[in-house]
Amino acid sequence: MRTIRSVATLAARSRALHREGVVIGMVPTMGALHAGHRSLIRRARLSCDAVVVSLFVNPRQFGRGEDFSRYPKRFRSDAALCHQEGVDVLFAPSLASMYPPGFQTSVEVRTLSQRWEGHVRPRHFEGVATVLTKLLSLARPHLAFFGQKDFQQAAIVRQLVDDLNLGVHVVVSPTVREPDGLALSSRNGYLTPAQRRAAPVLYAALRTGRAAVLAGIRSAARIRRVMLDTISAQPLVRVEYLAVCDLRTLEPLNHVTDRALLLGAIRLGHTRLIDNLLVKSPQRRVRQ
Ligand code: AMP
Repeated sequence: MRTIRSVATLAARSRALHREGVVIGMVPTMGALHAGHRSLIRRARLSCDAVVVSLFVNPRQFGRGEDFSRYPKRFRSDAALCHQEGVDVLFAPSLASMYPPGFQTSVEVRTLSQRWEGHVRPRHFEGVATVLTKLLSLARPHLAFFGQKDFQQAAIVRQLVDDLNLGVHVVVSPTVREPDGLALSSRNGYLTPAQRRAAPVLYAALRTGRAAVLAGIRSAARIRRVMLDTISAQPLVRVEYLAVCDLRTLEPLNHVTDRALLLGAIRLGHTRLIDNLLVKSPQRRVRQ
């Protein structure tokens, strides 16, 4: 495995791989790697000849008062995991290499960035879209791998790749969870033991929402109500949003007629957690 620290070296490596006709897969991350990241790397390893993993805690996607300065950094164990998983290139650039003095461009995916995470974290997705445009333009992967856990982010990346003709196939992989249902996240380590015990309630709420859809409830307001009722049983948890939305536009639905995305964010103390679940409403029986 080769560790690369500068954008110029990554671009040169990518050019060489392209010349050799190698299929490149990329897994962009902010490090503090866990089994969720590992699943993306394994998926990339299965379908690509060369796997590039980026480790970069991107300051532009953190708002004022967010956790940029305390975001976990574990280069050694991240590098060991990548090595173990057969990663070919580990791209861990310095801040100055990614954003040299004078840097002034930003990329905005307008409509998809407005709601949910974008509403709670203004300019977050502008930071995400900007760094991913850079990473994908430098590594020029044929395939790029993202997790469903960050559903809105994956939708924005698809749009970005399409709009800017980046020529990358975006693959979205299922969310990896703890045995109690909590989605793995680099931020789970911030939780106190009591918060950690309460945290799986987000996934539990999404599951009650799904059960309501499967029981034939169509009204989004009623589905939201059952999800909120599940969460209100946990005094440590504050709901930021719980939504029933269209899985392409991410706009809220009034009624679930076919498929829908249940989306949620909660706060436990200073820690924010997000999760989501896709649901398909049962087909109406056709009378013979
Ligand atoms: P991050 O390091 O949090 O920026 O995440 C890097 C990539 O890993 C993103 O595409 C995330 O959606 C994905 N990811 C994070 N957590 C999980 C998880 N629990 N299961 C699957 N993918 C994940």
